[in-house]
Amino acid sequence: MTDQQRRTKILATLGPATDPPGMLDRLLKAGVDVVRLNFSHGDPSSQLARAEAVRAAACRVGVEVGILADLPGPKIRIERFAEGKVELSAGDPFDLIASEDAPAGSNTEVGVSYLELPQDVAPGDTLLLDDGLMQLRVDSVEGARIRCTVLNDGVLSDRKGLNKLGGGLSLGALTERDRELIKVAAEAGADFIAVSFCRNAEDMEEARRVAREAGSEAAMVAKVERAEAIENLVEIVDASDVVMVARGDLGVEIGDAELPGLQKKIIKVALERSKVVITATQMLQSMVESPIPTRAEVLDVANAVIDGTDAVMLSAESAAGRYPVKAVEALVRICLGAERQFSHDTDFEAAPRNLQRVDQAIAMATMFLTEHIGIRAIVAMTESGGTARFLSRFRSGVPIYAFSRHAGARRRMAMMRDVFPIDYDSRGQTPGEAGRGAIERLVRVGGLQAGERVVFTSGERMEHRGSTNTLRLLEVGPDGQAVGLGEL
Ligand code: PGA
Ligand code: MN
Repeated sequence: MTDQQRRTKILATLGPATDPPGMLDRLLKAGVDVVRLNFSHGDPSSQLARAEAVRAAACRVGVEVGILADLPGPKIRIERFAEGKVELSAGDPFDLIASEDAPAGSNTEVGVSYLELPQDVAPGDTLLLDDGLMQLRVDSVEGARIRCTVLNDGVLSDRKGLNKLGGGLSLGALTERDRELIKVAAEAGADFIAVSFCRNAEDMEEARRVAREAGSEAAMVAKVERAEAIENLVEIVDASDVVMVARGDLGVEIGDAELPGLQKKIIKVALERSKVVITATQMLQSMVESPIPTRAEVLDVANAVIDGTDAVMLSAESAAGRYPVKAVEALVRICLGAERQFSHDTDFEAAPRNLQRVDQAIAMATMFLTEHIGIRAIVAMTESGGTARFLSRFRSGVPIYAFSRHAGARRRMAMMRDVFPIDYDSRGQTPGEAGRGAIERLVRVGGLQAGERVVFTSGERMEHRGSTNTLRLLEVGPDGQAVGLGEL
């Protein structure tokens, strides 16, 4: 284990730029841990085909890659223009018509599919279209017609998204289409399902219920991207497995000045509550067109790593950019640099006080040992990945080798910082035998060396979820086999 191993995980969105033959293999070799299928675009059959292609590529490359299905959610959009787009100037009157049979748009009005919009807005509100590139002020509401004034010069084209500054659009999170697409995600074998624009814990619970009914074991991802989600942050985190700092829509709704503070807060709350966290959107935006990132982007990615994120995400950079592989390589490089330069002291201040589970308690004890005696690696025998999740919340920098016989658990663990999932079936072994087997494996494939110390966690009945109740200190003996630690 001489080469530095990257600890922060990389999530890359698939799209037209990743479809050419051979591209997925290159992305996986470059270091992608999880891919995102964006269910806002494309039909179910193309999502299923992409999921198949990912599994085939992962098999060829010899890695385990998680698949995240990202539901469209209730994104409000304007309808189409007669000419595809219009040019608008500051001061122009421009109306939104919330009606199913609004005429094709012009440079004075356009339809909106969300019929309740007139009830959700009031004179003086600011509406943001196309991620804020076009801004409207609401002057009055007359029935289905919302009279607005254009606030800036620009172009508005078909089907652009619409947000209200400050939030407050009352649309529910899980649309009928989302419910249908959860079934597609289940069929595609998605390891993660992301709920866009969730507002509260019920939205997440409902999505989870629909997913389980469809036979999916996927981890549920809450995309924090609207003002209401910030108000209900703690309950949303508690109701989810993974949280995404969805900076695109969040920045539009809350205002960009709030974003840095919110990113840090969301990551902190997620870690305190033992959840996994992704930082997303525009991380290397300039690489859609350019082979190298801007310095500001380098700093942004590094800062997310320092903030403690589990994973960083590419959107258009990989899905539709000119340099998908270079973008992944840039993330790898920047994450490694940030991890090298900012070593962590485990922060026990932030550790949970009232432990709820035995595996969580074992994880806490393990991290305490790791901090106070020299430990080369943590080896966790885990069924569901729960022990690895509790261990990795501490960001100790010590690698966590998570041995599990369940491919789904290993792919969900692919999102966790510091965690390296390994395929291992410990059924029929005593904890002692499993410890020896795991360490022999790490000596063979992971470069563990004689004299190095390891913390080993397991359960007495290892085929049960959440049953980890044992912690042992082991040392690699001269012949590469595990021995108990005689003295410190
Ligand atoms: P999206 O979500 O890319 O699906 O919009 C992420 C974000 O809003 O940042
Ligand atoms: Mn979004």
